[in-house]
Order: sequence, then structure tokens, then C-alpha cells
Amino acid sequence: MLKTGSGKSKKLYLRSRMTNIDIKEIKYLLETPKFIVVVPHKNPDGDAIGSSLGLYHYLKSKGHDVVVITPNDYPEFLKWIPGEDTIIKHESDTVKANTLIENAELIFTLDFNALNRTGSMEPNLVAAKGIKIMIDHHQLPEDYAKYVYSDVSMCSTSEMIYHFLEMLDDVNAITSAIATSLYVGIMTDTGSFSFNATTSTTHRVVADLIDKGANNAQIHGNVYDTNTYDRLQLLGRALNNLKVIPKYNTSYISLSQDELNTFNFKKGDTEGVVNYALSLNKVNFAVIFIEHKKEGIVKISLRSKGNFDVNVFARNHFNGGGHLNAAGGRSELSLKDTLEKFISLLPNYSKDLNS
Ligand code: 5GP
Ligand code: MN
Repeated sequence: MLKTGSGKSKKLYLRSRMTNIDIKEIKYLLETPKFIVVVPHKNPDGDAIGSSLGLYHYLKSKGHDVVVITPNDYPEFLKWIPGEDTIIKHESDTVKANTLIENAELIFTLDFNALNRTGSMEPNLVAAKGIKIMIDHHQLPEDYAKYVYSDVSMCSTSEMIYHFLEMLDDVNAITSAIATSLYVGIMTDTGSFSFNATTSTTHRVVADLIDKGANNAQIHGNVYDTNTYDRLQLLGRALNNLKVIPKYNTSYISLSQDELNTFNFKKGDTEGVVNYALSLNKVNFAVIFIEHKKEGIVKISLRSKGNFDVNVFARNHFNGGGHLNAAGGRSELSLKDTLEKFISLLPNYSKDLNS
């Protein structure tokens, strides 16, 4: 849909597909070589990097000049995906990244719903003249892009990239590099195809990605079987710190900066740890609190089973958001005060947590 001005009146997030006019216009834009920047959210995860690189390889194969710019660094377990070594990190290569953003004719923003999710890149993206195209599955997308493909029912942005290529009638252009990148995103954002949003369509997409060259066993191993001894010891500490509040079917884990230092914490080391808290029998709400002294915040990851909406909880109390069953947020209070605040909120949700 071609958007006008602020577009405030248009509830674009209710649409699950781009219109034929959108597609026609995007096809036209992609007919001639362009300089294209692809941007995922800060602290990019498997879906953010997978969808970005999948789209990167596709656009390159069509003759465009393409660069993926991430706001900051990402976990080691993603540093093998084809094309990963071309990614520019805004945090460490700011001047270059800003020039590229300024010169971009097209800017794809992937796997996020609000420009502030790009951290320090936000002002540059706001000022950028390039035509913006958002592809994302988070709730309540902001209205900054000319073209919006937003579908909150989707398991991952990577699956959406596949559907985007379907809309462009170009699924046959999927190479093994594209298939591998998208497979990483779908696998990680679905918890290896276990979460609710994993549909029969997801499995059909994944089947096709395997046919087109994604090596499923190898990809799984590359992402999940690369633990360091320190990381497993940190997991041990996290499990030791696990607390359960049976009255609210809630569990939580905290990790202090000192604990992270003890186990030589590296980005990605705590990824997935919150799922252990959620795996507890009878628990429908699980949270991990991780102290980041340097940034002066506590990073929070929230997960739920069933109808308890962690997106709303994160949005209302911890400056965050995400999805019904998986969200993130942050607190500027100390770790101790953050935990106290969290515990004091639970009685307000007693009914939801017990249903
Ligand atoms: P995680 O806990 O793994 O960092 O994030 C879980 C989900 O919530 C992901 O889909 C992530 O993109 C989203 N998310 C994490 N932090 C934030 C945030 O601060 N704001 C919003 N809107 N979404 C977030
Ligand atoms: Mn995602």
C-alpha cells in the first residue's frame, strides 16, 4: 500500500499481505540496480541476521549493491552464515555506516516494529532519504515505512522473506545461501519449530528451503552445539538462581554482572536460558533479568505459555515489547530493585496467571 504522510488513519498492521499495487511498485523499483541497505534490530538474534542475509543474497543475485548494517554486534553462533563477514556494525563503524544509510536508495528494515529498536541508528534512519520497506512480525508496527509487510501471526521475519519472494514470483531464485540464512531465522525464532506460531505453512517453507540447499542438521549443530565450557557453567549458575513463585505460576532467573564476569560472559551466552525457567511444570510465565553494568540497565527477557501476554507486560512495565509469548524489555533500576518491582506487579495479574 502506498502510504501518505503520517498515515495515522491506516491500521496497516491489520494487513497480513502487501497489496498488489505495493508489489507492483516494489518490483518496478527492483528492476534497475539500486544501492540498498538492510537493517535489523539492535542485539540482533538469529531471525534478525537470518532474514537480513537471506534478503541480502537475494538482492545481490538480482544485481543490486547491498549492505547489511546491524546496530551492534551479535552472538558467535551466528558468525558462520554465508555473507555474515560482509555485515557492517554501526556501533564500531559509525561514520561509514552513516554514509551508507545516507546514500541508500532503498532501506529494508527487518524484524522490528519501531525505529528506536535500532538504538543509535535511529536518527540516521529517520533522516535517510531512501524508500523504506518494513518486513516484520512484531505487534504494533510504527508508521515510518512507505511499504509495510507486517504480520504478527508469522513465526519469524525469515519466513516472511520467503513469502515476500513468493509475492515477487521469485521463489525459484532461492539459492543455498538464501535458504541457509532463512532456515537459521525460522529455526531460532520458533525454538526449533516448537512454538505456537509454527504452522504447517512454516513446515512447507522449511521443506522447500531444505530442497533448495539448507542443510538442516548442520545448521542446527552450528547454532546450538557450539557451547563453551564457560557458557555451560554460566547456565549452571542461572539454574541455581532460578526462583519459583507457585502462587502466580511464575518463575524467574537473575544474573548479576559479577556472575557474568565470573564466567567470561560473551554476547549470546544467555540466549535461550529463560526457556529453562518456562519449561517448569505448572509455570506459565518466566523471566530472566540480566544486569548490564556498563549500560546501566537490567536486560529482561519474558516468555509465557498460553494466553498470558508478555508483550503487554513488557510494554507496560519494562519499556519493551515483542510478541504474546516472547518479549523483551529493560529496567534502569538496580537488579535488586528491578526484581522487587517485578514481584510486586504479580498480584495485579493473579487472575491471568492462574487461568
Ligand atoms: P528476547 O527476549 O529474545 O530479547 O526478545 C524476545 C522478543 O521480543 C523478540 O522478538 C524481540 O525482538 C522482542 N523484543 C525484545 N526486546 C524488545 C524491546 O525492547 N521492544 C520491543 N518492541 N520488542 C522487543
Ligand atoms: Mn523475529
